[in-house]
Amino acid sequence: MTNKDLIEKLNGEKKLYIHEWEQLLSAYTEADKDYAAKLAREISNKNFGNKIFFRGIIEFTNHCKNNCNYCGIRRGNKCASRYRLSKEDILLCCEEGYKYGYRTFVLQGGEDPFYDDELMLDIIKEIHENYPDCAITLSIGEKSKDSYEKFFEAGANRYLLRHETADKEHYNKLHTSELSWEHRIKCLEELKEIGYQTGCGLMVGSPYQTINHLAKDMVFIGEFEPEMIGIGPFIPHKDTPFKEFPAGSVDTTLFLLSLCRIMLPNALLPATTALGTVSGEGKQLGVMAGANVVMPNLSPLSVRKKYMLYDNKAINDDDAGENLNILKENMKKIGYEVVINKGDFKKVEYGQ
Ligand code: SAM
Repeated sequence: MTNKDLIEKLNGEKKLYIHEWEQLLSAYTEADKDYAAKLAREISNKNFGNKIFFRGIIEFTNHCKNNCNYCGIRRGNKCASRYRLSKEDILLCCEEGYKYGYRTFVLQGGEDPFYDDELMLDIIKEIHENYPDCAITLSIGEKSKDSYEKFFEAGANRYLLRHETADKEHYNKLHTSELSWEHRIKCLEELKEIGYQTGCGLMVGSPYQTINHLAKDMVFIGEFEPEMIGIGPFIPHKDTPFKEFPAGSVDTTLFLLSLCRIMLPNALLPATTALGTVSGEGKQLGVMAGANVVMPNLSPLSVRKKYMLYDNKAINDDDAGENLNILKENMKKIGYEVVINKGDFKKVEYGQ
């Protein structure tokens, strides 16, 4: 089969075998990438029109008890200047965001025990009470099922937890032995079971990643059927063990975004900040490849530069309103409209 045949097969059957993924990902041409992007855009346009959802990300702590080898806020990074936002700070971010039309708040942070269940519940409940028409997405790492359940009951309804890699050995090279691949996957399964719109995902070009790993990632994503998929390039951070590794490929990231869109037509697929960091036009390219979500930063200006997961992270000094205006303009230039909408996942039966 040619690569074009494989892309068509994916479009029809919504899955490929691992050896087919390996073929497609190891030797794709510019024409294959363009073909996948065209199909992906057609699918996005059919499902979402030319509409792009936006989510406000609030990076509320850069303290982390973990020591992931790729991440700039790993606990071993003594150069990081640490901060925590109070509940009041977080609510102010929501208030400002709401004014400008943000209807999803993404609370992201390192795994910081300071925010115990009681404090998290307090924060979630207060956001939910003040903004009942908004979605609350959590991205705070691995917790017990009991905690996930409590957060869900308090009003959080989406959870982002990248699986990082579907290969256990590769996972162990990216993380220290305190973390296990099995536990990561268990958390993802529990989140789904509870009823969260669940997001998995990976870094393209993470150190030691092979084509076989990426093929396994695509099989995993197809089987797990996440509501959201976060895919962005790996970018080195100067104060981590992976500082000498090169950044991941923009082309492969875009190709994978298109293939995810073809495989899971209704998935919520962000054009990530990391993609916008390695390529100035990254967010627009992401949308042209099939993404339908953007996540502007709602964190206070005073802490934005401290949430440095990787070098040169695309950060601007614009407030929530200005940020959004720039985004709207950029999307308009490529024929898309940023809309005020909670942007929930809508289930469809694929392959019908
Ligand atoms: N602690 C939470 C967790 O583990 O899911 C959320 C925060 S964590 C920093 C969010 C994501 O940032 C990770 O899942 C990882 O994929 C991404 N990330 C971290 N370091 C990165 C790097 N150097 N390049 C690109 N992405 C990175």
